[in-house]
Amino acid sequence: MASVKGKHSTVHDLFGLEGRVALVTGSSRGLGLVLARGLGGAGATVVLNGRNEQTLQEAVSRLKEEGLDARGYGFDVTESAQIDGTIGRIEEEVGPIDILVNNAGIQRRGALEDFSEEDWQDILSTNLTAVFLVSRRVVRGMIARGRGKIINIHSLQSEVARVTIAPYCASKGGVKMLTRGMATDWGKHNIQVNGIGPGYFRTEMTRPLAENPEFDRWLRSRTPMARWGDPQELVGTAIFLASDASSFMTGQIVYVDGGVLATI
Ligand code: NDP
Repeated sequence: MASVKGKHSTVHDLFGLEGRVALVTGSSRGLGLVLARGLGGAGATVVLNGRNEQTLQEAVSRLKEEGLDARGYGFDVTESAQIDGTIGRIEEEVGPIDILVNNAGIQRRGALEDFSEEDWQDILSTNLTAVFLVSRRVVRGMIARGRGKIINIHSLQSEVARVTIAPYCASKGGVKMLTRGMATDWGKHNIQVNGIGPGYFRTEMTRPLAENPEFDRWLRSRTPMARWGDPQELVGTAIFLASDASSFMTGQIVYVDGGVLATI
């Protein structure tokens, strides 16, 4: 870990992630995979995660072919026994986790008055409770070592709602306050906890929106930059928040949204 006394001599000293281990949950596809590739490109050993073992192993192989140091550990982020066991194995087999990106998330859309309790629980447990469960296990090692970086993936819905996704909004609003709570509790251990709030990016999750011409038109007109984001455009923020460059920044959420939240 670089000193806090202004001795960083190069951009590389500030942003490089060599020798660090980064666990990105929900990284077998979508934004998580792009974030893992980005952290790997900055020098980290990246641990990919997801529930579907085949998708996970294919993603690991792809990153390895690209020359990155990638491993895969399948577990369900909503299951505390699986989390606790697997994080222990990762620490033994790969090394202490320096960077945790809580990215796994799901979406279910529907009228709130008809929304099933089961779907509500699934959303809350994957998008919010899992951030607590995975962080609670990983932070033990971070506290012991006196350093660590946690990046929670938020959403525009951490700030603003949209029809048919109230439960998702509740979960992502919860992640915002959990991020601030974690930053408050763990700051004294030199652990920085921050968030990235992506705008709209084309993935499996947003496919129904991307395939809807009406939504696509609305989004372009609603977004100052008049387009969808490219997942690669999240990588710089992730590297910044994972690196020594953000050593005195904690409890913040950086929105990467083409300007949506800046305008009505
Ligand atoms: P995708 O659906 O494309 O990918 C989700 C990933 O999470 C997959 O790897 C999936 O693998 C994994 N996952 C889902 N549930 C679990 C679980 N219980 N345990 C472990 N892994 C799980 O989603 P996105 O990439 O679009 O979204 C990633 C994050 O970014 C989410 O938190 C989402 O809310 C957020 N986000 C996305 C935006 C977008 O525009 N795409 C905008 C704002 C926020 P598997 O199913 O095999 O478990």
